[in-house]
Amino acid sequence: MAPMSDGTAGQAEEATELLQHLIRNACVNDGTVSSGQEVRNATLLEAYLDGSGVAMERYEPAPGRTSLVVKLEGSDPSAPSLNLLGHTDVVPAAGDDWRHDPFGGDLIDGEVWGRGAIDMLDLTATMAVALRHLGREGFRPRGDLTYLAVADEEASSTFGARWLTEHVPDAVAANYVVTESGGFPMPSGDGGVRLPVITGEKGVYWCTLTVTGTPGHGSQPLRTDNALVKAAEIVRRVDEYEPRAEMHEAWRRFIDDMAFPPELGEALVDPERIGPLCQDLPLGLARQAHACTHTTIAPTVVHGGIKTNIIPDRVTLELDIRTLPGWDLDDVRSMLVDVVGDLADDVTVEYTFADEASASPIDTPLWDSLQRVSSVFYPGARTVPFFTVGATDARFYRTMGSVAYGYGLHSPNLGFEDYATMFHGTDERVDTESLRLSTGLWLALARDFLT
Ligand SMILES: [Zn+2]
Repeated sequence: MAPMSDGTAGQAEEATELLQHLIRNACVNDGTVSSGQEVRNATLLEAYLDGSGVAMERYEPAPGRTSLVVKLEGSDPSAPSLNLLGHTDVVPAAGDDWRHDPFGGDLIDGEVWGRGAIDMLDLTATMAVALRHLGREGFRPRGDLTYLAVADEEASSTFGARWLTEHVPDAVAANYVVTESGGFPMPSGDGGVRLPVITGEKGVYWCTLTVTGTPGHGSQPLRTDNALVKAAEIVRRVDEYEPRAEMHEAWRRFIDDMAFPPELGEALVDPERIGPLCQDLPLGLARQAHACTHTTIAPTVVHGGIKTNIIPDRVTLELDIRTLPGWDLDDVRSMLVDVVGDLADDVTVEYTFADEASASPIDTPLWDSLQRVSSVFYPGARTVPFFTVGATDARFYRTMGSVAYGYGLHSPNLGFEDYATMFHGTDERVDTESLRLSTGLWLALARDFLT
């Protein structure tokens, strides 16, 4: 099904150009305090929105880690307020593996290429375009409409949404929030189109395992107590470990709404069959289905050893653990005890990051509004709840009591499979049609939900 046109071509051009600039500013967040430097994108967006009748405020909890908060004040303080929440940082990209420069922001055959094109500078750009147009036309919402272009989402949000919601809650609070990602059209089993709305997300636990041994000479390795050999064994055990499958409510509802053929639909919610099924599904879908139904552990970073001829006595391993709803830190701890097994005495674990899974209710006025405005662009399409396996800034708002969803609109030109592999992957890009759709979505949402 082709999405309908609604005369927003000019706004799509603006969004395209803005996105190209946001990508070229390369606000790469590697997790260190001095990286990101989102001040470049905050300044760009501030200049873009200047003179459009919106109120703007900057916050900079650490040098260069700037977030921009843009408001269109509502006429009725008791009316529900809405935040459009975008982040301005991106994860690193190794250019050698890409077909085009990840920070070139090139427009090639109707697609904007570069790191952040779909995560989530595309939405951050289209939200800004919508605010500018609403401001310029003198749009007056009933409840406050706030656009936030925040730093540091790609590390731990320490200098972005986490900081803002903790330190200046009055400036950034809202009853309802829309942020990444969702809205990738998926063909359903009954021939229709489904648009996933992210209603919840997995928990995130990052930890560093320090594996200890005894130093010795590399020329006599027999029966040495080598920390690297033990660390390798732990990595092997992590890779082999498979927590049991759990079928969460949002997953069951999603599978049900997708109207898959009965055989497939039943297997996808069967804890016994989901494992083998994931071996056969296409890669993007398999990873998603697996991650939605399992707590996962990925070994990602290793440091150790000081010299070629010294048996190392200390190796550190970093693990990225993503939990399903219902898991807390104690559950994660006992899982790791299980994984490490008889090597436990030689390992200490330090948690650098620990956030439980979070979810918003599905039956809300924002849900209804998103369904209404989406069907303008995709006639007949239905929104479906979806659980994201990545962490987003929505969780800070859920903690504050807001209803927070992940959504946007995307064209069918890139399939779910493409999107799934581009997040933090290579050849990240977005087509200009998706930019047109998302710009139209934010404009329509503001008019539907806030008037
Ligand atoms: Zn993101």
